Amino acid sequence: MSKEIWAVLEQGETGLREDSGELLAELTEIAQRQPEQTLVCAILLIAPGSNLPDTALLPRLGVRRLYLLEHTRLAHYTTEGYVSALAWLLQQRAPALVASTASANGRAWMPRLAARLQLPFVPGCLGLDLHDAALFALRSIYEGRAYIQTRAALHGRTALATLATGVRGVPTSVGTAAADNQPIEMSTFTPEIKEQQEAVRRIAIQAPSPEEVELDVAERIVAGGRGVGREGFASLASFARLLGAAVGATRVATDRGWVEHERQIGATGKSVHPKLYLACGISGAAQHTSGIREAETIVAINPDRNAPILALADLGLLGDANEILPLAAKMLET
Ligand SMILES: Cc1cc2nc3c(=O)[nH]c(=O)nc-3n(C[C@H](O)[C@H](O)[C@H](O)COP(=O)(O)OP(=O)(O)OC[C@H]3O[C@@H](n4cnc5c(N)ncnc54)[C@H](O)[C@@H]3O)c2cc1C
Repeated sequence: MSKEIWAVLEQGETGLREDSGELLAELTEIAQRQPEQTLVCAILLIAPGSNLPDTALLPRLGVRRLYLLEHTRLAHYTTEGYVSALAWLLQQRAPALVASTASANGRAWMPRLAARLQLPFVPGCLGLDLHDAALFALRSIYEGRAYIQTRAALHGRTALATLATGVRGVPTSVGTAAADNQPIEMSTFTPEIKEQQEAVRRIAIQAPSPEEVELDVAERIVAGGRGVGREGFASLASFARLLGAAVGATRVATDRGWVEHERQIGATGKSVHPKLYLACGISGAAQHTSGIREAETIVAINPDRNAPILALADLGLLGDANEILPLAAKMLET
């Protein structure tokens, strides 16, 4: 049996999550570095009869096998469902590595799977490698102010890891044209999921507030800096809510406690790739703009026409963000 590396993929409302590509590209590179033949397998957990997402991306990103785990209890995400189904398949096939993105779900099921099967687990990795019977992971520490390389000895066990996304960008292809055309082997499994008393029951799905939307996957971000001030963040969040956007911030704003540290964008914060990035009261220091290189459209509000962010922006509004945002909000509401 060939050595396998698994990517557990998640579906969003419109198909595979956008960061699936980043995860697959990372795992394909690891597979290519292995001395023995190593296959990247995509794993999808679904309910019987449910529609499969578009999987055209998979062969382009080096996937050779697709394993479908089908069970009625997988109609919606539950941590227990994922842990039970994956533990079942993992015990049968013993892959070298199982990875997922460090999404809210990935951060919930992966450590529990590690605990259930007593496997080594490294969370929130920026980069991964497998060699010398160990998992090597690059991770950021101290709120992103430093990096460490960790080594987890495997002793023949499967390694588990979650990958932070927004680090390497979303590739469209990692192979050759010939590799793109290779068919994917698809296998369907019905895992054993014990009928237990429901510990967690799904009642409804509620949209997250702008302060909770994950920055790494947000399509729109309204970010604030020193120029909006502590009070300005309230109207910034209201405006973000109207746009269906996430709130981001500079380090000045997070260091002052105006918003949570996890909202920080930049060299020591998150790298983001939204379609729209609205920068309010942000000067555009290199340590901040390094995190928005992949934003498609940047709009900046700043009264200082010499602010570096205006040179970078597709559209610049010269003025006070605390006056412009409430006016723009009124226009959106009417
Ligand atoms: C090692 C290191 C790592 C760093 N990592 C990061 C990082 O990850 N992320 C990050 O963001 N920073 C980081 N920094 C800090 C970075 O260098 C800048 O200091 C910071 O980004 C500046 O934040 P700011 O734009 O909010 O503030 P400022 O640079 O002070 O800019 C405020 C801007 O607001 C404008 N303004 C004033 N009033 C208004 C108003 N009413 N309406 C609209 N605009 C107004 C001003 O004209 C000005 O351009 C790092 C620094 C170091 C040394």
